[in-house]
Amino acid sequence: MKICIACGMPMEKVSDFPGGDETKDYCIYCARPDGTMQSFEEKKVGMVEFTMKSQGFNESAALKITLTSMKKLPAWKCYFQG
Ligand SMILES: [Zn+2]
Repeated sequence: MKICIACGMPMEKVSDFPGGDETKDYCIYCARPDGTMQSFEEKKVGMVEFTMKSQGFNESAALKITLTSMKKLPAWKCYFQG
């Protein structure tokens, strides 16, 4: 089983992969409509919105939570160095 490098979601089914392509390291929620992986900014905005909606945080709290979780993910590690 693979774990999405961009959001940490376990990818168990073919339908979790963008376009059903199991060679991809990121999930369908981290892919653009054309199948490529979202950028750091795109993913950040999406996660902040999701955290605000699902957990009722305001934007600055949601941003803090988002950055904390993105820091742990292989796809975004390089954005937090230095
Ligand atoms: Zn993902």
